[in-house]
This record gives sequence, C-alpha cells and structure tokens, in this order.
Amino acid sequence: MTVLNLGSINIDIVFAVPHIPAPGETLSSTGREVFLGGKGTNMSVAIARAGGTVRHIGAVGPDGGWTVERLRAAGVDIGFIAELEEVTGQALIAVDADGENTIILYPGANRALRHDAVMAALAEAGPGDRLLLQNETNLQAEAAREAKALGLAVTYAAAPFDADAVKAVLPTLDMLFLNRVEAEQLTQATGQAPADLGVRDVVITLGADGCDWIGPGGVQHFDAVPVEPVDTTGAGDTFTGYTLAALERGLSMPAALELAGRAGALMVTRHGTSDVIPTLDEVRAFAG
Ligand code: ADP
Repeated sequence: MTVLNLGSINIDIVFAVPHIPAPGETLSSTGREVFLGGKGTNMSVAIARAGGTVRHIGAVGPDGGWTVERLRAAGVDIGFIAELEEVTGQALIAVDADGENTIILYPGANRALRHDAVMAALAEAGPGDRLLLQNETNLQAEAAREAKALGLAVTYAAAPFDADAVKAVLPTLDMLFLNRVEAEQLTQATGQAPADLGVRDVVITLGADGCDWIGPGGVQHFDAVPVEPVDTTGAGDTFTGYTLAALERGLSMPAALELAGRAGALMVTRHGTSDVIPTLDEVRAFAG
C-alpha cells in the first residue's frame, strides 16, 4: 500500500529581524536560513520517516532540484514530481527576537500542476492505495474525484483552511484531519458538526490536549504526551503522516493515533520543520 501525496513543495527563506517591519519600513535582516518546507513536503517526509511508503505528486521550478533530492534522500518516491517553468513555491518568513513571525507565501509551481500529470500518477495507483491532499496545490477536487472513481481512499488535511476547498472534496473523503481552529471554521461554514459530515473518520487535533477521533464507533479521545514545547511548527503534519503510515503498516486506528501523538509531541520539542521530523525509531525510544 502506498500513500499518493498530492502536495506542496516550498523553499522556506527565514529572515531574522529585530522586529516585524511596519508598513513602509525597510529593515535589514540579521540572519538568513533556507529550509525545505510546505505542508505536502512535511507530510511526505513524515510518512517516509514513520516507515510508510509514499509517492509525492507535485511540481517544482528550475530552482527546486535540491528540494526533490532532499525528498528522495528522506525515502519519498519522487517519480511524479514534475519540473515546470514556474518557480518552486516559496515562503518568505520574518522572525523577530520574541519568535513572532510574519509569512508571505508564493505558491509558484504548487498551483501550476498539470492535469494530465496528476491523472497519470493516479492511474499508477494500486488497490489499497490512498490519496492524501492538503490545500496548497491546484487540482485537489479533480484528483479527489478521480481517486474515488478508481476506488482509492481519500484523505484531506484541511490546511491552510478554506471552506470552499474543503466542501469541494468532502463527498470523496474517507478521512479528514482538522486542528481545533479548522474544526470550528468548518462547523461554521457547513452548519454541521464533524460527526455529521458523512466522512467515516474525522480526526481533530487539539495541540497539548491530544486529539479526538470521530469514527464509526463514536468519539474517542486520546491524551497528548506531556512535553515542554519549543516550536509547534509541523506538529500537525507529522501527526497526519504518522497516522497514515501506521494504518498502511496495518495498525488499528487507536494504535495509529497513539503513535502519531507521540510523534507530534516529540516534534514540538524540536526547532525546525521537515528536517527534524522524527524517525520511527526515535518515536519508539521517546519516553515522553
Ligand atoms: P496543528 O499543527 O495542525 O495545529 P496540533 O497543534 O493540534 O496541530 O498538533 C498535532 C498533534 O501533535 C496533537 O494532536 C498532539 O498529539 C501533538 N502535539 C501538538 N502540540 C503538543 C504539545 N504542546 N504537547 C504534546 N503534544 C502536542
């Protein structure tokens, strides 16, 4: 079984600044670091590090060769990552001395995916494979419909949240991941509680409060592993990737969510995103 992850690949450029610049202000940065980012990337890396099989469906520009190489080195199947003329997606992130940040996202190649390339990737899927989507690419609804028609499970992580984007894929979904804020936004947008959306499994992550699984048997709560968080970036992506990899390896949903909670907790004890997503061995060794 393979997770086909139709997802973003970003180059994160992080500038250290003394304060977040005001409108009209020109400010010198005191530091610059470049990271591999994007929700799609994070989830692909998390699935691979969790021992799952993942094929990334996406695109980069002529500047993105190193990002694809990093994904390959992490164990991700890169055979369906196209190189387009558009530049690779970029996030320009300014972080001030207090850790406050401001982010400008340029989707670039992530929102220029070609219909024929995405359909060709789906046509390679086998029985039991799963399509995973987030809201950082184009062609989400088209891919979800095709995957459902092919009999694949379809999973959506509704971030960055957009009510119309969720509604467009909702009828195709087997599984939906939301954080607490996204769950409230979706309830407002649809007028329906998560249990009434018609999706078999809805997982609502609650940060330090763990998660709720709304499944065929009702609602089940899972406590978080208590830790001292230093950076919560990427916790949700790590959690989603670990859950799907565990299901792929045959674990039950409760066992998968328990493992994913440990991975999410370990992740928030680390600074950084895709580079520091823990491996399965690290999560197993993590006492919490
Ligand atoms: P997102 O990053 O999408 O907002 P959450 O913050 O809800 O997602 O985190 C996802 C999961 O990671 C949580 O369900 C939990 O298991 C784990 N996690 C996140 N923050 C903490 C924390 N402070 N302590 C322990 N576990 C955490």
